[in-house]
Amino acid sequence: MIKKTSVDQVIDTARIEEVVGDFVRLKKRGSGYQGLCPFHQEKTPSFSVNPVGNFYKCFGCGKGGNSVNFVMEHEKMSFPEAIRYLADKYGISLEEDKMTDEEIAEVKAKDNLHALAEYAAQYFEDELKNTEEGQTIGLSYFKERGYLDSTIKTFRLGYSANNRIKFTQKAMKDGYDLQMLKDCGLTAQSGNDFFYKRVMFTIQDVSGRPVAFAGRILSKQVKAPKYINSPETEIYKKSHVLYGLYQARQSMRKEDFCIIVEGYTDVLSMHQAGIENVVASSGTSLTDGQVLKIKRFTNNVVMLYDGDAAGVKAAIRSIDIIHEKDMQVHLVLLPGDHDPDSFVSDQGASGFKTYIDQNAMDFIAFRQHLFAQSGQHDPVSKSQIIKELIESIAKIPDAIKRTLYVRQCADAFKIDEEIVMAELNKVIRKEIYNQRKKEERQQRQNEEEWIADPKSKPQAQTDDLTKDSDVYQEKDILRVLILYGDKYIDEEEETTLTEFVMANLEPVIHTFNEDAYKKLLNIAVEQYKKELPVHKELFINHEDPDIQKTALDIISTPYEYSPNWSAKGMELQTQVLPEKNFEKDAMQAILRFKLKKIVKQCKDIYEKILQEDQEGNTDTVEKLYKSFAKLTQDKTEVTEQLNAVILE
Ligand SMILES: [Zn+2]
Repeated sequence: MIKKTSVDQVIDTARIEEVVGDFVRLKKRGSGYQGLCPFHQEKTPSFSVNPVGNFYKCFGCGKGGNSVNFVMEHEKMSFPEAIRYLADKYGISLEEDKMTDEEIAEVKAKDNLHALAEYAAQYFEDELKNTEEGQTIGLSYFKERGYLDSTIKTFRLGYSANNRIKFTQKAMKDGYDLQMLKDCGLTAQSGNDFFYKRVMFTIQDVSGRPVAFAGRILSKQVKAPKYINSPETEIYKKSHVLYGLYQARQSMRKEDFCIIVEGYTDVLSMHQAGIENVVASSGTSLTDGQVLKIKRFTNNVVMLYDGDAAGVKAAIRSIDIIHEKDMQVHLVLLPGDHDPDSFVSDQGASGFKTYIDQNAMDFIAFRQHLFAQSGQHDPVSKSQIIKELIESIAKIPDAIKRTLYVRQCADAFKIDEEIVMAELNKVIRKEIYNQRKKEERQQRQNEEEWIADPKSKPQAQTDDLTKDSDVYQEKDILRVLILYGDKYIDEEEETTLTEFVMANLEPVIHTFNEDAYKKLLNIAVEQYKKELPVHKELFINHEDPDIQKTALDIISTPYEYSPNWSAKGMELQTQVLPEKNFEKDAMQAILRFKLKKIVKQCKDIYEKILQEDQEGNTDTVEKLYKSFAKLTQDKTEVTEQLNAVILE
């Protein structure tokens, strides 16, 4: 394990603009740099590099972090790999130490599961090659199917013996805990091996780490499923994994398209034949997560499809998902009874490629083909298909493409282009309307009730369906803490901003609402309790990527008090020198936070008053009114303080 001091040295030494500059063309812009984001498709740069803060941030897709994060994300490396890469770049020699038992226990469960999955992959490979049963049953099966040793090695094929406890016993003997074996999906709840008497396919993530397995049964048991897959685990989310992506990624980039097939063996055969840009979805329809994985490497998808009814439905759903991501998709139907496996054996790579070139259909041609095949040419089924096609076209973000598809659709189904266009516009309008409704709901949720005069807003009760949100105030408090937490507000007294915030926030600190923000606040509180400084690096170099991301979002967005503030004439004046005014910013943030809490309490109490009043509980109503009056007074005080701070 790399020593913490070495890790810190690497993080401190690596210059973000140099690290990113190796992969992205950066242009100087103000005090920082800008370039085209390597993580999402864009034409105008929204990817910025901040040399002062030593971090990068994309305002398009939201990705951001330090040098280590960049290398991990861009080069698909693990944390230690990224540290080694950067150490190499900067000529830093890393100190490593052997893990003690305690340290091993400390390593996160996730890392443990990765290590265990790697152990299992090696175990299954070993069983295949080096046991008699593995050789005679497993290896001979793979050989019969024509797989070369190189393919078996590249895809880490393996074997699990006809013995229900062999793996679990061995793993436990080698120090793996039974619970962990279960958590990794390798041991069933009963304590038996999850996989036995099957040939094994190792499912790897995009950086090549094993995350799950699929086992194919060889004997003809009617009752047992042909394939079983690892259950979902901490490290295996089925909807985010594509089989073969690790082996396909370079070719996908080079060929600039990705072929999607259904089966594991299709991937193996095609790869072996020299068509390497191929992955299997191993589910019915593609998911958003899977499509986004592909989009990292290419925008073009070719789906090889065999024509059963379930396949058609899945294909149509997949097409829409691909279109939504502004990617192109084509479908290829294989001739006769062929599956990709048999077809590539038959035709070889070049024959296969030619076939794809000549037979790839876009989704309209595909639907037209199905329609022709179905033999049902009545107006009802025809109009149904056209409707579905229009729904699909509406999902394409690019207007020019939509227009072209409208023309094609009209041609294909011999229907007036204007009618198709009119229908499309209807669908789009409806979608915009729904989207706007959604945004409005969201906005209402975020809005503050500055005038907490519930009498004028009796409908507030129904508004409460949405969560009352304090994001703005919490965000502002965190912003000053992250940026200026270690600065002194009083040089003589040596009071840090953190101390100042903690003292002022103390009575209301437990009312932080947002879970993501609570995490950050807790980090600051812990530091404060230990009398350690709270500084930016604590958050943006934090090991938890969620914390990093939240911190980056907070410090890279400008102050954004909700629109109501300016409506009430309480605009935040532009801070000429924010680094000099952090005390004022902090005080404002705290007061606004308090105010928000008071306003909310007012509202809650008023609702109670209405309720109790209706039930005729005059005593309770009386009491509640007193609390209400007290809160109103508090509100006035805080408002005055806030005004004083602002106008100061
Ligand atoms: Zn981006």
